[in-house]
Amino acid sequence: MAESFGMLRAAQAFSTPREPHLYALAYHRVDEPGHRPWLDPSLISATPAQFEAQMRLIAHAYHPVNAEDVLHALEGGKPLPPNAVLVTVDDGYCDFQEAILPIARCYGIQPLLFVPTGYVGSGIFWWDHLYQAIYHTSMTEIHCSLGCLPIETPEEKLVAMERLRRYFKQIPYEQAKYEIAELPKLAEDHHDTLNWNELRAAVRNGATLAPHTHSHSILSRVSIERAGEEICQSFDLLQQEVGNILPIFAFPDGVREAFTPEIIELLNAKGLKLVFTMIAGFSRLTKNDPLCFPRVPIWHEMSLAQFHWHLTPLHWKHVSSEAKRI
Ligand SMILES: [Zn+2]
Repeated sequence: MAESFGMLRAAQAFSTPREPHLYALAYHRVDEPGHRPWLDPSLISATPAQFEAQMRLIAHAYHPVNAEDVLHALEGGKPLPPNAVLVTVDDGYCDFQEAILPIARCYGIQPLLFVPTGYVGSGIFWWDHLYQAIYHTSMTEIHCSLGCLPIETPEEKLVAMERLRRYFKQIPYEQAKYEIAELPKLAEDHHDTLNWNELRAAVRNGATLAPHTHSHSILSRVSIERAGEEICQSFDLLQQEVGNILPIFAFPDGVREAFTPEIIELLNAKGLKLVFTMIAGFSRLTKNDPLCFPRVPIWHEMSLAQFHWHLTPLHWKHVSSEAKRI
């Protein structure tokens, strides 16, 4: 293992581009799979132990930067150091304050959290409600707009989950919200999304918050007027509740189909300076494409050696994949 890490260090060092570039890591949840079995485990990016090992590696072999450093460099200020890494986290699950922030702080790392403001303090995201309707039920079928889907076996549950997730991402948000509310969920309420007091505490402890729309709508699937409202509403609400919000944004879903040139133009017109996608990769921090910035997706089956390999330019030379996203 030590040998393979030595080779990775060499791959990192010898292939590092001369111009400053940024690895923006994309996390969702950091938790043990069995800790909250009512939440969709596919959104777990790392266990706390894996996350700690990853932060230790970044602190020792890379240069962690915060959102302000990145904006400053983008605006012509102090350039980013070589091998700059920004830790980003999407959605605002409670494990951000329980695991992500305390571990990151131990290594002097200040994560950037993207918040869909409509879900702050709501307790549950729609995709976890869907997960409960399929995985935490004694029913053998689920009745929905797609008809009557069997959910008796693990394979049937998997198929139903994927079909419904795709369906709800494609229909208008209000309709999806209405249909998801009709699905059964656990009788017991859980507190799984951060509330405003917790978000303010996270900022006091070094996190940066940025908008991720209000409803977590996929912007390419709503009207341009609605997309504008989603962007402004989430930005204004964060500004009102937390203050000092930087002009940074992340697209829900984040794949190429989740946004259009028209939406990027809208973000530009609204004064956003840096926008993260879920297109997998790393990039130079130039003014050419800061409104369409790639990220390195992190998933929990990833070994530490794989994690390190994803933070080398050599890896991205022959990879063009899209990340697991929500
Ligand atoms: Zn998201």
